[in-house]
Amino acid sequence: MIRLLVATHNRGKLREYKELLHDLPVELVYLDDVGITQQVEETGNTFLENALQKALNYARISGLVTLADDSGLEVDALGGAPGVYSSRYAGPNASDRDRIEKLLRDLQGVPRERRTARFRCVIAVATPEGEACTTQGTVEGLIVDTPRGEHGFGYDPVFYLPGRGRTMAELPPEEKNRISHRARAAQAIKPLLRCWLTGRPARG
Ligand code: IMP
Repeated sequence: MIRLLVATHNRGKLREYKELLHDLPVELVYLDDVGITQQVEETGNTFLENALQKALNYARISGLVTLADDSGLEVDALGGAPGVYSSRYAGPNASDRDRIEKLLRDLQGVPRERRTARFRCVIAVATPEGEACTTQGTVEGLIVDTPRGEHGFGYDPVFYLPGRGRTMAELPPEEKNRISHRARAAQAIKPLLRCWLTGRPARG
């Protein structure tokens, strides 16, 4: 069976991709399985640049068709921050909790109606020969002051979904995997992946 490398060291993302991609007719492999410990630098200014950089580099290093994503949180009252810096928002060795605390400090005094935000995910798939394609997904929400919920990762406990009356971290994993930015980007890339990996047409 054809192997697809899912190139992320983030355990929260890995867990989600195992579920999101399980119905593809490919064997999913991970960086640890192929013994890749190096971290590809993210030097781009956009999610798209970073996702492409990761997918192309890991594909070249591994010799496998490779999927990578770059994702993060865009908060309107902060001019779109933390954006591509979501994982580095509170410094290099900070925890999810540190990042949430910094976000809530930066939003102190901002009223609920101005706390609009979205998660954005860009997925890139690349071949070792340097071909690539990308898709993206977003999900809209509000940043709330009190973290709630035990599921998910990252900023999920303070990302409130008005339509569901719950934070992203309060959703069971299968529900997050139906509506999240990553789920939407993954659904969009699947037809292209099927076509690339099996040689069958993208539709039908
Ligand atoms: P990346 O590894 O550079 O793409 O970093 C993405 C960062 O954005 C993560 O470390 C999280 O802080 C945040 N992030 C991305 N996706 C999610 C999500 O689904 N839930 C919560 N936080 C997320």
